[in-house]
Amino acid sequence: MKFLSSISMTILAASAAFTTCAQEYPGNAPVMAVVPFAAGGPTDKVAREVTAIMSKHLKAQIVIENVGGAGGTIGARKVASARNDGHTVLIHHIGMSTAPALYRKLGFDPLEDFEMVGEIADVPMVLLGNKNLPPQDFKELLPYIQSNASNLFMANAGIGSASHLCGLLFMSAIGKQLGTVPYKGTAPALTDLIGGQVNLMCDQTTNVSGQIKAGVVKPYIAMQSARIDAFRDIPAASEQGLPGIEVKIWHAMYAPKGTPADVVAKLSAALQAAVEDPSFRKKMEDLGAQAATADRATPSSLRKHLSNEINKWTPVIRAAGVYAD
Ligand code: ASP
Repeated sequence: MKFLSSISMTILAASAAFTTCAQEYPGNAPVMAVVPFAAGGPTDKVAREVTAIMSKHLKAQIVIENVGGAGGTIGARKVASARNDGHTVLIHHIGMSTAPALYRKLGFDPLEDFEMVGEIADVPMVLLGNKNLPPQDFKELLPYIQSNASNLFMANAGIGSASHLCGLLFMSAIGKQLGTVPYKGTAPALTDLIGGQVNLMCDQTTNVSGQIKAGVVKPYIAMQSARIDAFRDIPAASEQGLPGIEVKIWHAMYAPKGTPADVVAKLSAALQAAVEDPSFRKKMEDLGAQAATADRATPSSLRKHLSNEINKWTPVIRAAGVYAD
């Protein structure tokens, strides 16, 4: 009896130690970072760069899982219902703020169903054409679109993706509707743009800077009012008669609702260290993007930003009458 109780005491003590160990985040288990778009695309590239640095600070392996489709909403939904133990996070973009207005059956609330971790980077967008598209510059592109609209197709990463929103803005600015082709991300869309299966696409510079520099795609305009520092030779939309166009894509990290506050704080601290890391800042700069500052890589900053962006985009999308089921 004495012997038995000493065994059970030992088991109790061992299991208490095990529990303490298991609770010490991150422990030995890897963190799964869900990217809601295809591998090799812009969200994926930013995610891989930032998590490589974060994992050193967090002392945990961070693995990327690409869950593309439906403009990023499938991956986001997966994280909203994942275990809230800090071993699953989401790395998304502006789509978190546009999805609530675009999707009638979204299945999650970006502000209510996630813990905010922090912002990661801002990325500009460029309107690109297939290399063999006849117009050499934007001045030639406009009349070409006017007379060939029914034969031109714009690629995007699904409803609510950055490329979709950017394409909508472009088509409404020029008053012409083109055919659209949705992909699971702009990595596969870019392959088809280069192959000529589609003619035009808006994309983040983080995805297309190599192809622009190599001359395998034609960059027509930067989708903003000022030129992009890393691509000074691409004219800004405002210089080409499209003054209202201003598309700035932002990436951020989220954890499922209920992820313990100390775990979110550890994730956010690792994110803050990563965005301030000179190699990450330089990498973003080279790709035409800008890393967030540490004060933006925080839960409070992201909550404020996400809520402002939802308030900004919801009326625009409602007025445009665009939606998906
Ligand atoms: N660039 C994509 C978009 O249009 C997202 C991606 O593939 O990462 O939203």
